[in-house]
Amino acid sequence: MLEIRDLVCGYGHGTALKGLSIEVKEGQLVALVGANGAGKSTTLRAISGLVPPRSGVIRFSGRDITGAEPRRILAHGIAHCPEGRRVFPQMSVAENLAMGAYLRRDRPGVAADLDRIYGEFPRLAERRHQAAGTLSGGEQQMLAIGRALMARPRLVLFDEPSLGLAPTIVERMFAVIRAIRTAGTTVLLVEQNAFAALELCDHAYLLETGRVVRAGTGSALIADP
Ligand code: ADP
Ligand code: ADP
Repeated sequence: MLEIRDLVCGYGHGTALKGLSIEVKEGQLVALVGANGAGKSTTLRAISGLVPPRSGVIRFSGRDITGAEPRRILAHGIAHCPEGRRVFPQMSVAENLAMGAYLRRDRPGVAADLDRIYGEFPRLAERRHQAAGTLSGGEQQMLAIGRALMARPRLVLFDEPSLGLAPTIVERMFAVIRAIRTAGTTVLLVEQNAFAALELCDHAYLLETGRVVRAGTGSALIADP
């Protein structure tokens, strides 16, 4: 479904990805793990069009999306759930969720998905008219996930969704990500919490200084790190 071949990109004169190749098959949950600075977030930013590739190819469902604009990539069905619970703090919960659906034209579908998200996350439903910035960290993370799902993506990119959350919330959050995959949406997950990500995933890539140094099932990487 997603294929990245020999991707090179970076910031200014720095090179963050030095020939990275990965593949995500439809319906899988794939994890990118590795130390800080390995290039995990940059990989997600390159896929969603936020960092322009210098060379290499990104293909999604057979289409070359290398260097495409972020909104076109979203329109093709790739949603990015960025690091740090980036909700719009002054907007309400409902407005944040509506932003996730801004490219959609199927209003009944949007309303149905909104109901589903409120049903699954009752705390968001209770706070739907409240400014997102007043929610707890865990609620903001769930809102960021809900907002990404409102785009009805075929592939969701999660960047460090467990960062800074209490352990009980982390478990709930991983359960939600597992449920998203079970419902048929493909997931690419970046995690510092490598053990949890490897336990959860179908396939994993270990990154080191902008390259893949190991690949395999999560259990294979746990057994032989
Ligand atoms: P990871 O997500 O694995 O921690 P990143 O993709 O964030 O790694 O970073 C890869 C490299 O790119 C690092 O050397 C980092 O310092 C650099 N980098 C990341 N973001 C920026 C940025 N906005 N500006 C300049 N350099 C950056
Ligand atoms: P379950 O009810 O299966 O235990 P959770 O309570 O852990 O699931 O949360 C699953 C969340 O993910 C819900 O908000 C659900 O609406 C959402 N979700 C799962 N898959 C999708 C999908 N493909 N599109 C939109 N939302 C999804």
